[in-house]
Parts: sequence; C-alpha cells; structure tokens
Amino acid sequence: MYRTHTNGALRIEHVGTEVTLSGWVQKVRDKGFMIWVDLRDRYGITQLIFDEDRTSKELISQAKMLGREFVIQIKGIVIERASKNPNIPTGEVEILVSELTVLNEALLPPFTIEDDTDGGEELRMKYRYLDIRRNPVKENLIFRHKVAQEVRNYLSKEGFIEIETPYLIKSTPEGARDFVVPSRMNQGQFYALPQSPQTFKQLLMIGGMDKYFQIVKCFRDEDLRADRQPEFTQIDCEMAFVEQEDILNAFEGLTCHLLKEINGVEVAEFPRMTYDEAMKKYGNDKPDIRFGMEFGELNEVTQHKEFNVFNQAELVVGIAVPGGNSYSRKDIDKLVDWVKRPQVGALGMVYVRCNEDGTFKSSVDKFYDQEDLAKWATETDANPGDLICVLSGQTNKVRAQLSALRMELAERLDLRNPKEFGPLWVIDFPLLEWDEDTERYHAMHHPFTSPKPGQLELLATNPGEVKANAYDLVLNGNEIGGGSIRIHDKETQALMFDYLGFTPEEAKAQFGFLLNAFEYGAPPHGGIAFGLDRLVAILGGQETIRDFIAFPKNNSGRDVMIDAPAPIDQVQLDELSLKLNIK
Ligand code: ASP
Repeated sequence: MYRTHTNGALRIEHVGTEVTLSGWVQKVRDKGFMIWVDLRDRYGITQLIFDEDRTSKELISQAKMLGREFVIQIKGIVIERASKNPNIPTGEVEILVSELTVLNEALLPPFTIEDDTDGGEELRMKYRYLDIRRNPVKENLIFRHKVAQEVRNYLSKEGFIEIETPYLIKSTPEGARDFVVPSRMNQGQFYALPQSPQTFKQLLMIGGMDKYFQIVKCFRDEDLRADRQPEFTQIDCEMAFVEQEDILNAFEGLTCHLLKEINGVEVAEFPRMTYDEAMKKYGNDKPDIRFGMEFGELNEVTQHKEFNVFNQAELVVGIAVPGGNSYSRKDIDKLVDWVKRPQVGALGMVYVRCNEDGTFKSSVDKFYDQEDLAKWATETDANPGDLICVLSGQTNKVRAQLSALRMELAERLDLRNPKEFGPLWVIDFPLLEWDEDTERYHAMHHPFTSPKPGQLELLATNPGEVKANAYDLVLNGNEIGGGSIRIHDKETQALMFDYLGFTPEEAKAQFGFLLNAFEYGAPPHGGIAFGLDRLVAILGGQETIRDFIAFPKNNSGRDVMIDAPAPIDQVQLDELSLKLNIK
C-alpha cells in the first residue's frame, strides 16, 4: 500500500497514529541536526521531520540525498509540531519518519514548482506536467471540473440527456476553416472535424430526443486571435418544441445555477438588449454593462459648424470618462496616441474637459462654443469633472474604435471587477452580414438559423435588414453563449442556402442529409452552445482560457510539449495517397 492518508488529511487528532504517505518533495530544509521535508500531492502538503535524537543516522543521510520533486514514500508517527503553521490545514502536525523509500528520483525542474514561479509561459507549456503540479494551475483544473459537474447536474435534473456525436464528420459551417482528416479506407476523401455538433444536435431533435446536451470538443482552423484555441470545449444544447423565450429561460436558469453554486452570487433576471441597441449604446454586441460610459451620438449637435472632420463623418460619437478632467495634457495626448494605434485605428480624437464650475474647454474651441459643448455633455451624460472623448468616421469602424477605448478606460479606472457579474441577453441579431472580402452575405450565426417570423420576404429586397431568431448570452463583456431557433422545413432551408450562394447541387452535396431529414417530420427546435473554457475563466475571475485548459496550444496552434503538429512519414503519406506540395 502506497499510502494510508493523503498529504492534506492529517490533523491534530491524528497525533500518535502510524501513517504511510507518498508524494513529491516540495522543499528540503537541512539544519544539519534536523531535516524538514515538505511532502506534496494534489491534496496538500505535510511536513516530515528527521532529527538526530529520534532518527537513525542512516535515515538522516538518506534524507540528505533528497532533491526537489523526488517521489518518495515514508512511514512514521504523527506528532504535534513545536511551531505550528496556521496557513495550511495540516499545519499543526508533522511526521516523525521511521522509513523512507525513494520511489523515483527527479531531475531538477526547469522552473520552480511554486505558486509564483520563475518559469516563462513557453517553458511552462513545454513542461506542462510540472506546471500542473503548481497550485494555481491545479486549482483551475479542479475548478473547471466543478463547473462541468454543476452543468451536468443542472441539465440532467432539467431532463436533458448527454449524447455523444461523432468527431469524424463532414463540414459544419460555423464560419471558420475545417480541420480535415484524410481517410485511408476511402482514398482521396476527407473527414472534417466538427466546428460544432450543430447538424447532429438538430438530427437528434428530429430523432425525438427532445432535450440534448453534450460537453464536447469543437475544432476550428482560424488564425488565433488573442486567447483562442484551435480546439475548445462547448456546452452544446438543443431542445425541441421551443420558442426563443423557452431557450432564454432554460439557459438563464443554468447560468444562475452556476453563479450561485460556484460563486455564491444571486443574480436577478437578466436584462435583454437588442443587437441594434447594443451597437448604438456600446459599439459592441457583447457589452460589459457593469459600468456606464454609454455612447452619446453627436451628429445632430456637431454637424452645424465649419468643422469638416465631423461634417463629413457618418457618425460622431462620444463617451464621458468619469473624473477624466483630472488628466494632464500629457495623459490626454497619450490617450490620443492609444486610439491612433493600428490595432484601434482612429484617425484622431476630439476631447472636452468638463470643468467643475460647469464650463467646458475643448480641443475644438475654434469651432464650438460653450452652448454647443453643453449639448455634447447632455448627450454623453457627462458631469462636471469628466472628460468627453469623441471619435468620428464610418459608423461600424468608429463604434468599434470607441468601444475599444471604453474598455481600455474601464480597465484603467478599475471598473471591471472580476468578482462582479453582469450577464445579459443580446437578441435580434441580423440574419446575414456583409463580407467585404468575398463581397457577399454570410450567415451571421450559421445557415440553420431562422429569420424572425414574417421577415422571410425581406430577404429578397433588403437582406441586410432581416433579423434572426438568434441570441447571445454575454457576461462581463464576453460572449459566453450563442444560439438560435432553427429552420425546420426543407423549403426555407433550401432558400437560405440559395441566399448564401450555394447552388442547389452544392447544398444537396453538403447538407442533403439534413434537407432529407426535414422531410420526415422535423419538430420546431432551437438551441445554444456555451464556450466552456471562457465561462470557466470568467467564473474563476480570470480572463485567460489557457490557464483553465490542462494541455493548451500556443498562439501558433502548437502543442510545444508533444511538439505537434509534426510531419508524418512517407509510409503514412503513401497509405493515404497523399503527396506534399510545400512551396
Ligand atoms: N453551433 C452554434 C455555435 O457553435 C451554437 C448553436 O447555434 O447552438 O456557435
């Protein structure tokens, strides 16, 4: 038997008990006549003691050979510590060791296995198994398990059934590139890894399963913007005989359950905001509503003077920065430089200081008088002591720029408290979005999303105006879930493929199975998928999803530990009849 207890188990009431423990050597403190060893496992740390008076010479010299991260087993008696450590649960006791076995020696780890390590990210990823021994990573993985467990508990209690769907499939369009897998048995043919189980969960509804969920890996081959992973986990859900309201209620329930069980936070009903309103007020379809700084549109109160920059702009829009009038000229210049960075892309920024005495001082005083500026203050809800920042240009671009500035300022002003939760539903998304590159419309959510009732006709005349039965769940400025009510009849689905530029042959080749299934009694249905990695990170009060994934990939999509992706040998290529053509 390797152990009678774990290293987190022993307390003062165990004094006098003979125990066997196993674990890793966290630290050795050698005072010559006395040696202490911190023994670690997942459950905690127990202090071992070897001392000249009570321990054999042989055992002392054995203990002196121990190095960091050696795996050892000991036998000994639990004794009360002379100087107790109130910071750890086992801090009142230590083990007077009578037998020591080294189960495995260890090389000196390339970084310290401590809460605050000296290892850089790339090094820690290369030795992720050592990184996982560190408390913060270990705790995050345990936290993730708890969240997943609560999801399963809640959804099972609500009558959802967890069903697995295949990974070797055909393309499911979620807007990214597919990862493909060549088939040896079907030469020249390829599977695609699922971007999501979308079509399968719809088929499960046609199969009568009524309420489905799955905690499932999805694969999307996209350029990795900050904090994305090529494989990630969804809580994927689908329900039959539902309308949008049913889905919103069901998954508001799940989110409230998680916030309560995991964070001890009770949240009242989630606010709902249309996509149009979110874009107008926050320049963003995933607004962080925990703080104000709402956009004030200023076209009407700016475009009557000789200031051409504003006069030529499609949108002039500002926000009031609380207390921003205290910024020095230099601070403001830096802010202007910040919005002009290529990542943000504004051409410039106009600002107005709102003085405590109710007067204004702006960077465009040449064009606008106090009366004008007072109107800007009203539109942006600015108070004396604030700073109004104004951007102008093409509507979509300028909204994105001001939204970036709003988030940056909120960060600087400490308005984004990770312990505070501000969920909301964003609803009524456009069905289609215009893609500048390919010069055509794409499904904003995915091609299986239904238009709002009565809007189908608009598709022919004003496709950009059509709203979808689609919704996102937003938490603290992050989209944590998104879904839609689906199309469930063949004609509408075929029409949708047509609008999206599929020929009937292409639609049949790619999605014939779904169109066919719609002819065998498809119930009305809809669903949602949550990004589990992001949800866990936010509930855990952090922003980086990598910290909650046991074996994440880096920004180039590499697993630096196992060194993947990697070339395959000629035999494998030949078996698959593949020839490389690398330029
Ligand atoms: N399959 C969708 C996604 O991955 C979610 C859904 O519509 O249920 O975003």
